[in-house]
Amino acid sequence: MRCTCNEAEAAEGLAQIVPRSPVPIVADIHHQYKMALAALEAGVHGLRLNPGNIRRPEHIKAVASEARDRNVPIRIGVNGGSLDPALYEKHNGLTAEAMVESALQEIAYFQEVDFDLIKISVKASNVPLMIEAYRQLSEVTDYPLHLGVTEAGPLPGGLIKATAGIATLLMEGIGDTIRYSLTADPVEEARAGRQLLESLGLRERKNVDLIACPSCGRAEIDVIEVANRAQQAFADKKIPLQIAVMGCVVNGPGEAREADLGIAAGNKRVTSS
Ligand code: SF4
Repeated sequence: MRCTCNEAEAAEGLAQIVPRSPVPIVADIHHQYKMALAALEAGVHGLRLNPGNIRRPEHIKAVASEARDRNVPIRIGVNGGSLDPALYEKHNGLTAEAMVESALQEIAYFQEVDFDLIKISVKASNVPLMIEAYRQLSEVTDYPLHLGVTEAGPLPGGLIKATAGIATLLMEGIGDTIRYSLTADPVEEARAGRQLLESLGLRERKNVDLIACPSCGRAEIDVIEVANRAQQAFADKKIPLQIAVMGCVVNGPGEAREADLGIAAGNKRVTSS
């Protein structure tokens, strides 16, 4: 769980939250390095630092030293929307090279104080840019990478953008953790992340997987209605079940046979297995 730590009251709140939390608490820090020190003092389990808005080397190294002494990991969170202006100017705008250079600069400060408990993100809202930045970064560092398309937006467009970026990289073997940044209830972000990992075979499936035909002239039943009813019926079930709702004999029997539960229409009949 990540909490913003942007003022003294937030740091005081963290000191109350951390001991009571059943999950690790990560503090998100922007602009004020002293808030990072306060969050560490509050006992957080991780920090996220944005190199674009904490830029003084002595401040960065002060935080890294304190995190090192407390054995607290830090995510270097480069973000296309808050790139260091000097790098923006040097690279003539927001580029993958500029984002990678920002991450490498921060890593160098951390290495100066002998701190390597880090992971890195180079998020952008532009999907091709984000993919290129992560590809370049993966070539020059072995640190774990945290993937995301930042500020991807509301559903369904945000879901598609985030999936396009994250899935492309995961299938290239790039990335260690992920986050969907959707303009939606955070539960949707977690759900999307889980479904993506299950779809790519990167996480054991623990939920229902529904296979069903699209709209199709060959369908002999109203597949959309039957599939929607199946989805509703199993919406709350936490079981690794594959269900196929198929409209005709072209692919129906084959798909239904492979699924745990299958409904296949054809020759004016519907069978289930
Ligand atoms: S199985 Fe039949 S109804 Fe379903 S998509 Fe294929 S051709 Fe269309």
